[in-house]
Amino acid sequence: MDIISLFKRFAETKLLFESSDFLLTEIDEYAYRVKSRSGNALPGRRILLTALVHGDETGGIEALYQCAQEFIESALLGAELTIALGNMPAARLGRRFIERDLNRSFAVTGGQELEHRLARRLEELVADADVVIDFHQTVQPSESAFLIFQYSKSNMDLAKAIAGENAVVTYRGDFSKDGTTLGVYALSKNKTAVTFEMGHLGLSQEQALKSRLLFKKSLAYLANKNAASSTTETETSVFTFAKATVPSAPGRSLKSGFQNFSKISKNQVIAEDPSGPIAADQDGFMLFPKYDELALVSAELCRLVTPLSPEEISGW
Ligand SMILES: [Zn+2]
Repeated sequence: MDIISLFKRFAETKLLFESSDFLLTEIDEYAYRVKSRSGNALPGRRILLTALVHGDETGGIEALYQCAQEFIESALLGAELTIALGNMPAARLGRRFIERDLNRSFAVTGGQELEHRLARRLEELVADADVVIDFHQTVQPSESAFLIFQYSKSNMDLAKAIAGENAVVTYRGDFSKDGTTLGVYALSKNKTAVTFEMGHLGLSQEQALKSRLLFKKSLAYLANKNAASSTTETETSVFTFAKATVPSAPGRSLKSGFQNFSKISKNQVIAEDPSGPIAADQDGFMLFPKYDELALVSAELCRLVTPLSPEEISGW
């Protein structure tokens, strides 16, 4: 998606709210807030949707457009929606980021790089939200779209209610040695915050509709949260990070062809190092395989996830 189309789509998303039912407030060039004219937001119903935290994940724009439509159709009482684009300077150049990964730049006091400033802008929006959904796309293809978040009960409750056929990945502790993500930051501020990895980079109507369905379920969940609801809990596939990752190192590279959720067997060679092949030390599934430039700037070449049983989760 070229940058002109991207801006145009963002403008069109705003125009959807030009009805008498909604009051739109501009926050800045790439963020705005809408609420019903009939009243203030009810507790727990201030939603922040973000996309383009990675500038080249342009499919997020279409997801926001679909979610905006869904928000209007749902007419959820007392809901407030903030829509924000993360890294437009990078998007303008078709890049993931400019100086450093925005999604590793949160909770840095006094950071002076461009993405530190962009992170502080989003941190202010998080302060005024109860629920944060951050739309992303994967650099390599994905065998399944997935929700990913640092574990909290509220995050897991939301995820179970909205995941549907999408996988769920949750973890305890930090996501990455490289820095704090938007989701982890929001959770540290006691927000419910999940990231939705829609699928492979680029414009995709299928991914946008998947995102819309996820958001529709989120709105339904927020509507019923305090009622004695009988939400049908479908069997969600939940995964967590295995201990083992393959750390980045000079001359080391991942074997080609891995996708998100590629099945990995114990002893399978997954990377090459000057000192010899590196094999997986357990069964699992590949997540976030990194090649080329991205591998150089990341702490690890890939992650491995393994299934997490309901019994294990209840012990967290
Ligand atoms: Zn991303």
